[in-house]
Amino acid sequence: MAENKPIAFKAEIKQLLNILIHSLYTDREIFLRELTSNASDALTQMEFVMLTDRNVLDPDAELAIRLSVDEDEKIITIRDTGVGMTRDELTTNLGTIAQSGARAFLEAADEGVDQQQLADVIGQFGVGFYSVFMVAEWVRVTSRSYKPRAKAATWYATGDDTFTVEAAEKEDRGTTIQIKFKEDAEEFANESRLRDIIKRHSDYVRFPIFVGDDEEQTNRQTAIWRQPPREIDDDEYNDFFKHLTLEFEDPIAHVHFVADAPLRIFSLLYVPPKPERNMFSLRKEDGLKLYARKVLIQEYTTDLLPPYFRFVQGVVDSEDLPLNVSRESVQATALMARIKKILTGQINKQLHTLAEKDPQKYEQFWEAFSPFIKEGIASEHADRESLYSFVRFHTTVYPESWVSLKDYVERMKDGQDKIYYLLGEDDRSVARSPHLDYFRKHGYEVITLTDPMDSFMLLGLREFEDYQLQNVAAPDLELPAAEGTPEEEPAPEALPKKDFKKLVKRFKNQLGERVTDVRATDRLSDSVARLVDPDGSLGQEMQRVYRLVDRDFEVPKKVLELNPNHPLLSRLSDLPAGEQLSADVIEQVYESALLIEGLHPDPASMLPRIQALMEVALD
Ligand code: ADP
Ligand code: MG
Repeated sequence: MAENKPIAFKAEIKQLLNILIHSLYTDREIFLRELTSNASDALTQMEFVMLTDRNVLDPDAELAIRLSVDEDEKIITIRDTGVGMTRDELTTNLGTIAQSGARAFLEAADEGVDQQQLADVIGQFGVGFYSVFMVAEWVRVTSRSYKPRAKAATWYATGDDTFTVEAAEKEDRGTTIQIKFKEDAEEFANESRLRDIIKRHSDYVRFPIFVGDDEEQTNRQTAIWRQPPREIDDDEYNDFFKHLTLEFEDPIAHVHFVADAPLRIFSLLYVPPKPERNMFSLRKEDGLKLYARKVLIQEYTTDLLPPYFRFVQGVVDSEDLPLNVSRESVQATALMARIKKILTGQINKQLHTLAEKDPQKYEQFWEAFSPFIKEGIASEHADRESLYSFVRFHTTVYPESWVSLKDYVERMKDGQDKIYYLLGEDDRSVARSPHLDYFRKHGYEVITLTDPMDSFMLLGLREFEDYQLQNVAAPDLELPAAEGTPEEEPAPEALPKKDFKKLVKRFKNQLGERVTDVRATDRLSDSVARLVDPDGSLGQEMQRVYRLVDRDFEVPKKVLELNPNHPLLSRLSDLPAGEQLSADVIEQVYESALLIEGLHPDPASMLPRIQALMEVALD
């Protein structure tokens, strides 16, 4: 066989190279991170081999990574003393092995994942090596395996469809990669630039990295979570999050906590950008990565945070955990409970800081993770109160913004002693609810709750700062003080008692079984009627809870309350009882009330009646 007969790259690698060379221009510096990470992997493997086998090439070689630059030729060389590759390994590992990761990467590119984000995570797809072709005119990998009898070989490629492999001269163990930069990437042939990139992307590679003749190593070598927080900037935190999870977006917040006493603990936790993991995510389950003295002992640890914080991602590392802890004993130790308490406190604190310092980010958090917090309020008996301050909602006064319970209480009117709320299907129908008539008229702010989770949350939120929460749709509600004119003043349009009684009878006759009662109310001003629950029935909150958990749950029959002061009713009362128009109006009053409660089973069925009413009106 001819020595350097070209070998074709596997098809998906060809496509990958094509994208890397022709369409990824941002963040090209990450090629260096990928090459150092490969060198570091090879060194780790070497360490592992030597645990049991000293019969290797160069057993005493220092485990390190060295970079040198030829500024004139625009060539850099990256050397490691790792396991190296045989000639066959060079061929397979760098070009002919079937690569499912390459396919996944191409899919992600196809789906429009942003360039920068793709480059950020290329290593996670298992094709990091090829990122070098974003910057290289050619690449030469010369390697000699640690196996005593292995011979050195050289791999060479320019980024087109083939590569070559041939025998080479190399005395010492490990891999040497030479990169000749393309014209538009010559900036990288510069020592201080390389040092910069290493500090940024490879700071916690476990082996020393040296650049040029500098005897001082460039990287700090400690895992990011073990470094002092003040030495790490947001970009580094975000980078680590992306590598941990393979999410493309930055996290909403991070908490880096390092303590010496009473426990020696390092943790780096993140609130991810959204609750769902993306399709490529490296995190398959909830839970934190748990290390004991730098050794990973559990990939998904769920006992370190309460269930309502289960969306949090990150790493916890403690010097105090015994290395031989098993899954069961991890759960059991009192130490774990103490760590849990610390971490929960840290997340709490961080979210409050976020709410204070960056309300917009906090809203992003609330919009993404409110179901977890609401669930926690409903189900956690012990610390639900610590969650109250996280809650945000819309109100009748601020229908567009997010209001906290504290804001609400601060704005309460003099003498107001309850926190008023209303449940509903959606913001628009809630805004028109007749239950709000009185509160609007007298200037009381009412919280509007339209998320299905809200009724669950209310099970665990009945009081805040000594103020009870009160549903304004409750039939037995005690109204707060009225403003301005005394209520006693009879309205001009009020129906005489006798006529009103007759009218109620007409409603009852017509609606029959559909309502439990029809009666007058003084709660309404602009609205004609409203539906309320009969006294003693399940409240609105529980009805909603049942409706969500039980598909066949039927909403209990309601009481129709009429506004005796409404002009529509006095005119209706003037109509002869038997007339079709009267029947239509009664029907429409009832169904409109159903509609506004979100209880109408078939709103479109009202159209023929509405049309009939329009015809009468136009006559
Ligand atoms: P990954 O690192 O995820 O396996 P890469 O594309 O970065 O994917 O590298 C492909 C393979 O090439 C590695 O799995 C490894 O077998 C081999 N390789 C790359 N660089 C080196 C190196 N410096 N020393 C030894 N083997 C290497
Ligand atoms: Mg790699």
